[in-house]
Amino acid sequence: MRTLNRILTAATAALALTGAAAATFTSTASAAGRDGVCDDGEFCYYFNSDNQGSVSDFTGSVADYGTEQPSCYDFKGPGAGQGQCIKNAAASVWNRSSQTVRVHYNTGYGGAHQDFAPGAKANLNPTMKNQNASHEFNPTTRTNMSFGLYELSGGSITCGFDGYTTTPGRHEGIDIARGIGSDVHALVPGEVIYIARGANGSSGLSTISVYNSSLGKTVIYLHSAPRSGLAVGQQVSRGQVIADEAWRGISSSSGAHTHVEMRPGRQTHAAKSVNDYTLDNPNPTSFWNSQGYNVR
Ligand SMILES: [Zn+2]
Repeated sequence: MRTLNRILTAATAALALTGAAAATFTSTASAAGRDGVCDDGEFCYYFNSDNQGSVSDFTGSVADYGTEQPSCYDFKGPGAGQGQCIKNAAASVWNRSSQTVRVHYNTGYGGAHQDFAPGAKANLNPTMKNQNASHEFNPTTRTNMSFGLYELSGGSITCGFDGYTTTPGRHEGIDIARGIGSDVHALVPGEVIYIARGANGSSGLSTISVYNSSLGKTVIYLHSAPRSGLAVGQQVSRGQVIADEAWRGISSSSGAHTHVEMRPGRQTHAAKSVNDYTLDNPNPTSFWNSQGYNVR
Protein backbone atom coordinates (compact mmCIF):
# COMPACT_ATOMS: atom_id res chain seq x y z
CA MET A 1 0.00 0.00 0.00
CA ARG A 2 2.76 2.35 0.95
CA THR A 3 4.61 1.47 -2.31
CA LEU A 4 1.52 2.05 -4.43
CA ASN A 5 0.97 5.43 -2.80
CA ARG A 6 4.53 6.40 -3.60
CA ILE A 7 4.15 5.39 -7.27
CA LEU A 8 0.90 7.32 -7.65
CA THR A 9 2.44 10.39 -6.07
CA ALA A 10 5.43 10.16 -8.40
CA ALA A 11 3.16 9.79 -11.43
CA THR A 12 1.04 12.77 -10.41
CA ALA A 13 4.15 14.88 -9.87
CA ALA A 14 5.53 13.87 -13.27
CA LEU A 15 2.27 14.83 -14.98
CA ALA A 16 2.19 18.16 -13.18
CA LEU A 17 5.65 19.01 -14.48
CA THR A 18 4.52 20.05 -17.93
CA GLY A 19 1.17 20.64 -19.57
CA ALA A 20 2.48 18.91 -22.66
CA ALA A 21 3.05 15.69 -20.80
CA ALA A 22 -0.44 15.86 -19.32
CA ALA A 23 -1.96 16.50 -22.75
CA THR A 24 -0.12 13.55 -24.26
CA PHE A 25 -1.32 11.32 -21.47
CA THR A 26 -4.96 12.38 -21.94
CA SER A 27 -4.81 11.92 -25.70
CA THR A 28 -3.29 8.47 -25.40
CA ALA A 29 -5.89 7.39 -22.89
CA SER A 30 -8.90 8.41 -24.98
CA ALA A 31 -7.65 7.31 -28.41
CA ALA A 32 -5.21 4.46 -28.41
CA GLY A 33 -4.54 4.82 -32.13
CA ARG A 34 -3.90 2.08 -34.69
CA ASP A 35 -5.05 -0.74 -32.42
CA GLY A 36 -8.04 -1.95 -34.45
CA VAL A 37 -10.57 -0.58 -31.96
CA CYS A 38 -12.64 2.48 -32.81
CA ASP A 39 -12.05 4.63 -29.72
CA ASP A 40 -13.55 7.98 -28.81
CA GLY A 41 -11.60 10.69 -30.68
CA GLU A 42 -10.79 8.53 -33.70
CA PHE A 43 -11.89 8.27 -37.33
CA CYS A 44 -12.36 4.65 -38.36
CA TYR A 45 -12.70 2.69 -41.57
CA TYR A 46 -14.54 -0.62 -41.72
CA PHE A 47 -13.83 -3.30 -44.31
CA ASN A 48 -17.52 -4.03 -44.85
CA SER A 49 -20.65 -1.90 -45.13
CA ASP A 50 -22.74 -1.01 -42.07
CA ASN A 51 -19.64 -0.85 -39.84
CA GLN A 52 -18.93 -4.56 -40.17
CA GLY A 53 -15.61 -6.32 -40.56
CA SER A 54 -12.13 -5.28 -39.53
CA VAL A 55 -11.47 -1.75 -38.24
CA SER A 56 -8.66 0.67 -39.12
CA ASP A 57 -8.52 3.60 -36.66
CA PHE A 58 -6.90 7.04 -36.99
CA THR A 59 -6.31 10.13 -34.90
CA GLY A 60 -5.10 12.31 -37.79
CA SER A 61 -4.95 12.88 -41.55
CA VAL A 62 -3.11 10.49 -43.89
CA ALA A 63 -2.29 11.58 -47.45
CA ASP A 64 -1.03 8.23 -48.75
CA TYR A 65 -1.92 4.84 -47.30
CA GLY A 66 0.58 2.82 -49.28
CA THR A 67 -0.44 -0.27 -51.20
CA GLU A 68 1.67 -3.16 -49.96
CA GLN A 69 2.41 -4.92 -46.74
CA PRO A 70 4.23 -4.53 -44.45
CA SER A 71 4.32 -0.74 -44.90
CA CYS A 72 0.73 0.07 -45.86
CA TYR A 73 -1.94 1.25 -43.45
CA ASP A 74 -4.06 -1.82 -42.89
CA PHE A 75 -7.18 -3.11 -41.20
CA LYS A 76 -6.17 -4.12 -37.68
CA GLY A 77 -9.31 -5.24 -35.87
CA PRO A 78 -10.68 -8.79 -35.88
CA GLY A 79 -13.01 -9.88 -38.65
CA ALA A 80 -13.21 -9.79 -42.45
CA GLY A 81 -10.39 -7.86 -44.07
CA GLN A 82 -7.98 -8.00 -41.14
CA GLY A 83 -4.42 -7.42 -42.34
CA GLN A 84 -5.42 -6.04 -45.73
CA CYS A 85 -4.20 -2.61 -46.86
CA ILE A 86 -7.00 -0.05 -46.50
CA LYS A 87 -6.43 1.76 -49.81
CA ASN A 88 -9.45 1.18 -52.07
CA ALA A 89 -10.78 -1.38 -49.61
CA ALA A 90 -13.04 0.45 -47.12
CA ALA A 91 -16.83 0.31 -47.24
CA SER A 92 -18.00 2.28 -44.21
CA VAL A 93 -16.77 4.68 -41.55
CA TRP A 94 -17.42 5.88 -38.03
CA ASN A 95 -16.17 9.38 -37.24
CA ARG A 96 -15.68 9.46 -33.47
CA SER A 97 -13.45 12.55 -33.69
CA SER A 98 -14.70 16.07 -32.99
CA GLN A 99 -13.81 17.28 -36.51
CA THR A 100 -15.24 16.76 -39.97
CA VAL A 101 -13.23 14.12 -41.81
CA ARG A 102 -13.06 14.11 -45.62
CA VAL A 103 -12.35 10.87 -47.49
CA HIS A 104 -10.74 11.32 -50.91
CA TYR A 105 -10.73 9.20 -54.04
CA ASN A 106 -7.08 10.05 -54.77
CA THR A 107 -3.93 10.22 -52.69
CA GLY A 108 -2.82 13.67 -51.55
CA TYR A 109 -6.43 14.68 -50.71
CA GLY A 110 -7.38 14.81 -54.40
CA GLY A 111 -10.28 13.79 -56.59
CA ALA A 112 -13.85 13.19 -55.51
CA HIS A 113 -14.55 13.25 -51.80
CA GLN A 114 -17.13 12.50 -49.13
CA ASP A 115 -17.39 14.39 -45.84
CA PHE A 116 -18.27 12.85 -42.49
CA ALA A 117 -19.43 15.12 -39.69
CA PRO A 118 -18.37 14.45 -36.09
CA GLY A 119 -20.26 11.39 -34.88
CA ALA A 120 -21.25 10.21 -38.36
CA LYS A 121 -21.54 6.46 -38.81
CA ALA A 122 -22.16 5.72 -42.48
CA ASN A 123 -21.35 3.77 -45.61
CA LEU A 124 -19.05 5.24 -48.24
CA ASN A 125 -21.16 6.30 -51.23
CA PRO A 126 -20.97 4.31 -54.49
CA THR A 127 -18.23 6.59 -55.88
CA MET A 128 -16.04 6.23 -52.81
CA LYS A 129 -16.71 2.62 -51.75
CA ASN A 130 -13.50 0.63 -52.22
CA GLN A 131 -11.99 3.77 -53.82
CA ASN A 132 -10.67 5.52 -50.68
CA ALA A 133 -7.09 6.76 -51.06
CA SER A 134 -6.60 9.47 -48.39
CA HIS A 135 -8.46 11.22 -45.59
CA GLU A 136 -8.20 14.66 -44.08
CA PHE A 137 -9.26 15.85 -40.64
CA ASN A 138 -10.77 19.36 -40.57
CA PRO A 139 -10.45 19.74 -44.35
CA THR A 140 -10.14 23.11 -45.99
CA THR A 141 -13.30 24.16 -47.77
CA ARG A 142 -11.32 24.56 -50.98
CA THR A 143 -12.00 22.32 -53.95
CA ASN A 144 -9.20 21.05 -56.14
CA MET A 145 -9.09 22.86 -59.50
CA SER A 146 -8.99 19.57 -61.36
CA PHE A 147 -12.23 18.58 -59.64
CA GLY A 148 -13.84 22.01 -60.16
CA LEU A 149 -13.04 21.93 -63.87
CA TYR A 150 -14.39 18.46 -64.60
CA GLU A 151 -16.55 17.87 -61.50
CA LEU A 152 -15.70 14.21 -61.71
CA SER A 153 -12.89 12.20 -60.22
CA GLY A 154 -9.79 11.53 -62.22
CA GLY A 155 -8.90 14.97 -63.57
CA SER A 156 -5.30 15.89 -62.89
CA ILE A 157 -2.80 18.65 -63.54
CA THR A 158 -0.40 17.58 -66.29
CA CYS A 159 1.63 20.81 -66.41
CA GLY A 160 1.65 23.55 -63.79
CA PHE A 161 2.15 27.31 -64.13
CA ASP A 162 5.61 27.97 -65.59
CA GLY A 163 6.05 24.22 -65.49
CA TYR A 164 7.46 23.41 -68.93
CA THR A 165 10.20 20.81 -68.72
CA THR A 166 10.71 19.84 -72.38
CA THR A 167 8.66 22.48 -74.24
CA PRO A 168 10.61 25.69 -75.00
CA GLY A 169 9.12 28.83 -73.38
CA ARG A 170 7.24 29.69 -70.20
CA HIS A 171 3.88 28.08 -69.46
CA GLU A 172 1.36 30.85 -68.74
CA GLY A 173 -1.44 28.62 -67.44
CA ILE A 174 -2.25 25.28 -65.85
CA ASP A 175 -3.00 22.17 -67.94
CA ILE A 176 -5.64 19.83 -66.59
CA ALA A 177 -6.59 16.57 -68.29
CA ARG A 178 -9.31 14.03 -67.71
CA GLY A 179 -10.38 12.49 -71.00
CA ILE A 180 -11.68 13.61 -74.38
CA GLY A 181 -15.33 14.60 -74.19
CA SER A 182 -15.38 15.33 -70.46
CA ASP A 183 -17.58 18.28 -69.50
CA VAL A 184 -15.54 21.41 -68.81
CA HIS A 185 -17.05 23.65 -66.12
CA ALA A 186 -16.38 27.35 -65.62
CA LEU A 187 -14.18 27.81 -62.54
CA VAL A 188 -15.03 31.49 -62.06
CA PRO A 189 -18.20 33.36 -63.10
CA GLY A 190 -18.07 36.21 -65.59
CA GLU A 191 -18.88 37.43 -69.08
CA VAL A 192 -17.76 35.55 -72.17
CA ILE A 193 -15.76 38.18 -74.09
CA TYR A 194 -14.15 36.01 -76.77
CA ILE A 195 -14.65 32.58 -78.33
CA ALA A 196 -12.54 30.84 -80.95
CA ARG A 197 -13.98 27.42 -81.73
CA GLY A 198 -10.92 26.00 -83.48
CA ALA A 199 -10.55 22.39 -84.56
CA ASN A 200 -8.71 19.32 -83.31
CA GLY A 201 -5.07 19.35 -84.43
CA SER A 202 -2.06 21.57 -83.98
CA SER A 203 -3.35 24.51 -86.04
CA GLY A 204 -6.86 24.70 -84.57
CA LEU A 205 -6.43 26.41 -81.20
CA SER A 206 -9.73 27.11 -79.43
CA THR A 207 -10.22 29.82 -76.82
CA ILE A 208 -12.93 30.77 -74.32
CA SER A 209 -12.23 34.00 -72.42
CA VAL A 210 -14.36 34.82 -69.37
CA TYR A 211 -13.92 38.27 -67.83
CA ASN A 212 -14.93 38.95 -64.24
CA SER A 213 -15.12 42.72 -63.79
CA SER A 214 -15.44 42.67 -60.00
CA LEU A 215 -12.26 40.60 -59.68
CA GLY A 216 -10.54 42.48 -62.49
CA LYS A 217 -9.37 39.17 -63.99
CA THR A 218 -9.95 37.10 -67.11
CA VAL A 219 -9.92 33.30 -67.00
CA ILE A 220 -9.06 31.76 -70.37
CA TYR A 221 -9.67 28.14 -71.36
CA LEU A 222 -7.75 26.70 -74.33
CA HIS A 223 -7.97 23.47 -76.38
CA SER A 224 -11.49 22.39 -75.36
CA ALA A 225 -14.53 22.37 -77.65
CA PRO A 226 -16.83 25.29 -76.75
CA ARG A 227 -20.47 24.28 -76.27
CA SER A 228 -22.54 25.26 -79.29
CA GLY A 229 -24.80 27.54 -77.26
CA LEU A 230 -21.94 29.53 -75.78
CA ALA A 231 -21.84 33.10 -77.13
CA VAL A 232 -19.90 36.31 -76.63
CA GLY A 233 -21.73 38.59 -74.21
CA GLN A 234 -23.20 35.70 -72.23
CA GLN A 235 -22.79 35.55 -68.45
CA VAL A 236 -21.57 32.19 -67.18
CA SER A 237 -21.88 31.03 -63.60
CA ARG A 238 -19.35 29.10 -61.56
CA GLY A 239 -19.73 25.42 -62.40
CA GLN A 240 -21.63 26.00 -65.65
CA VAL A 241 -20.64 23.61 -68.46
CA ILE A 242 -18.95 25.68 -71.17
CA ALA A 243 -17.07 23.10 -73.25
CA ASP A 244 -15.97 19.50 -73.74
CA GLU A 245 -12.38 18.37 -73.38
CA ALA A 246 -10.71 18.15 -76.79
CA TRP A 247 -7.34 18.66 -78.52
CA ARG A 248 -7.91 21.87 -80.45
CA GLY A 249 -4.49 23.37 -81.00
CA ILE A 250 -2.72 20.17 -79.93
CA SER A 251 -0.97 17.87 -82.42
CA SER A 252 -2.21 14.56 -81.00
CA SER A 253 -5.43 13.36 -79.37
CA SER A 254 -3.29 11.75 -76.67
CA GLY A 255 -2.33 15.25 -75.52
CA ALA A 256 -5.92 16.40 -74.93
CA HIS A 257 -6.34 18.73 -71.94
CA THR A 258 -7.77 22.08 -70.91
CA HIS A 259 -5.29 24.92 -70.40
CA VAL A 260 -6.67 27.27 -67.72
CA GLU A 261 -5.05 30.67 -67.54
CA MET A 262 -5.68 33.60 -65.22
CA ARG A 263 -4.80 37.02 -66.66
CA PRO A 264 -4.96 40.38 -64.88
CA GLY A 265 -7.53 42.76 -66.38
CA ARG A 266 -9.69 42.25 -69.44
CA GLN A 267 -7.89 40.07 -72.00
CA THR A 268 -9.39 38.33 -75.00
CA HIS A 269 -6.39 36.09 -75.71
CA ALA A 270 -4.07 33.87 -73.73
CA ALA A 271 -0.47 34.95 -73.30
CA LYS A 272 2.05 33.20 -75.56
CA SER A 273 3.66 30.22 -73.86
CA VAL A 274 5.44 28.02 -76.41
CA ASN A 275 8.70 29.52 -77.68
CA ASP A 276 8.17 32.67 -75.61
CA TYR A 277 10.55 33.17 -72.71
CA THR A 278 8.78 36.18 -71.18
CA LEU A 279 6.31 35.29 -68.44
CA ASP A 280 3.39 37.73 -68.82
CA ASN A 281 1.05 36.42 -66.12
CA PRO A 282 1.71 36.44 -62.36
CA ASN A 283 1.79 33.18 -60.44
CA PRO A 284 -1.94 32.39 -60.09
CA THR A 285 -1.88 30.32 -56.90
CA SER A 286 -3.15 33.06 -54.57
CA PHE A 287 -5.89 33.93 -57.08
CA TRP A 288 -7.11 30.34 -57.29
CA ASN A 289 -6.96 29.98 -53.51
CA SER A 290 -9.03 33.16 -53.15
CA GLN A 291 -11.64 31.62 -55.45
CA GLY A 292 -11.88 28.52 -53.27
CA TYR A 293 -9.57 26.21 -55.21
CA ASN A 294 -6.43 24.29 -54.40
CA VAL A 295 -4.00 24.23 -57.31
CA ARG A 296 -4.10 20.47 -57.71
ZN1 LIG B 1 -1.07 24.87 -71.19
